[in-house]
Amino acid sequence: MKFGGTSVGKPERMQQIVSLVSKETEPVIVVLSALSGTTNALVEIGNHIANGDRGTAKQTIDKLEKHYQDFINELVKQPATSEKAKAIVAEHFEFLNIILKISFSEALSKDILAQGELLSTKIFSVYLEELGINHLFLPALEFMTIDHYDEPQIGSIKVKLSQILNQHKDKKLFVTQGYICRNPRGEVDNLKRGGSDYTASLIGAAINASVCEIWTDIDGMHNNDPRIVKNTVPVEQMSFDEAAELAYFGAKILHPASIWPAQQYNIPVKLLNTMQPEAKGTTIAEKAAGVGVKAVAAKDNIIAIRIKSSRMLLAYGFLRKIFEVFEKYRTPIDMVTTSEVAVSITIDTDHNLKEIIKELEAFGTVEIDKNQTIISVVGNEISQTELMVKKLFGSILNIPIRMVSYGGSPHNISLLVPAEYKNQILQQLNKGMFGLE
Ligand code: ADP
Ligand code: ASP
Ligand code: MG
Repeated sequence: MKFGGTSVGKPERMQQIVSLVSKETEPVIVVLSALSGTTNALVEIGNHIANGDRGTAKQTIDKLEKHYQDFINELVKQPATSEKAKAIVAEHFEFLNIILKISFSEALSKDILAQGELLSTKIFSVYLEELGINHLFLPALEFMTIDHYDEPQIGSIKVKLSQILNQHKDKKLFVTQGYICRNPRGEVDNLKRGGSDYTASLIGAAINASVCEIWTDIDGMHNNDPRIVKNTVPVEQMSFDEAAELAYFGAKILHPASIWPAQQYNIPVKLLNTMQPEAKGTTIAEKAAGVGVKAVAAKDNIIAIRIKSSRMLLAYGFLRKIFEVFEKYRTPIDMVTTSEVAVSITIDTDHNLKEIIKELEAFGTVEIDKNQTIISVVGNEISQTELMVKKLFGSILNIPIRMVSYGGSPHNISLLVPAEYKNQILQQLNKGMFGLE
């Protein structure tokens, strides 16, 4: 059971988590995020220190410390546990204050970012202690590891975690941190923003869990982005493939990589609402429920690259040469479209863009369009759904489309549009594809 930032962000929410966990009959591993707003504040602190602005960093640290002091004062009441909670907050803020005095490094910034999950889990553990609830505090840094390419090492996570769990067979409740992990240099690292979902799925896979529950602030995966479109509805069931496409293409409710571990080990994933636990939410499993369009999502900050060359005409090996450039710079490609004389590709990072362009120029003229958005329409067998194409394009006739990807998989159609059309296209698709105003 993974609880996100909003689900742990207030003392009463932690009380709610206890009540949800207490209803369980099977043993539970609870994965917690940092309290909402904390990781953003820690990012800010790191940026201020990196920029040499230690004064502002100190102010942000002090403000955050006050927030935690108020939080524990409201949550933990008995003298012994209250002292423990105070000592935890003091220890972690002392650490941040020490960091202020040493020279900044990438590794240090990861240490700063880890404080959020360390604080939330330790505070929750003390709260459980106050309530007399037997549990084991499980430090994620003892089992959650990534390799040189930042990929989680599922084999080793499995071995380490089972060793720990085997030593505590009497326990029914475990509490651990989402997001944080250790890299091959032994340093503290993380699974990137929103990574607690990924932690939960990795743990679910590692222990062969009966279910991986992602508890958040909304009643499941909606058919469209609720931050942008007013009238959205939850989708009750979807397949791993559908959920993975939506997560990867921008549905913020799930970390982009969070589906594959559960999918690989066939662990059903449920998206549930901490604030409304009786709501059905979304169940994600191997089999898709029915055919047709399930949801749309948008992925921002996309760069489109067009390589034009008459040499491509009737040539073979051209695409390989282009793809090799991206491989060399370890830059994943999201969309590809080709014509006989040009190929368009999208990427989601400008890391190494200059070097990539320089190498691509050896093959032809290179044009770049920054600030694009991928709109993904996702659903089982959608490309075979009757009138789907007509509905899709019919509802967005006024939008300029830079690329279309159809047929890559039977459950995804992606469009690339300039970012300024994102809100409009999501709203128009809500009406055109789902009949929702
Ligand atoms: P948590 O802190 O629990 O991980 P997140 O903020 O990361 O929560 O994810 C939940 C949020 O994702 C929702 O509040 C919602 O605004 C956003 N979201 C974006 N797209 C979708 C979608 N298709 N369905 C549901 N929520 C979505
Ligand atoms: N606290 C981390 C973040 O805000 C991880 C998470 O919430 O999933 O990105
Ligand atoms: Mg999240």
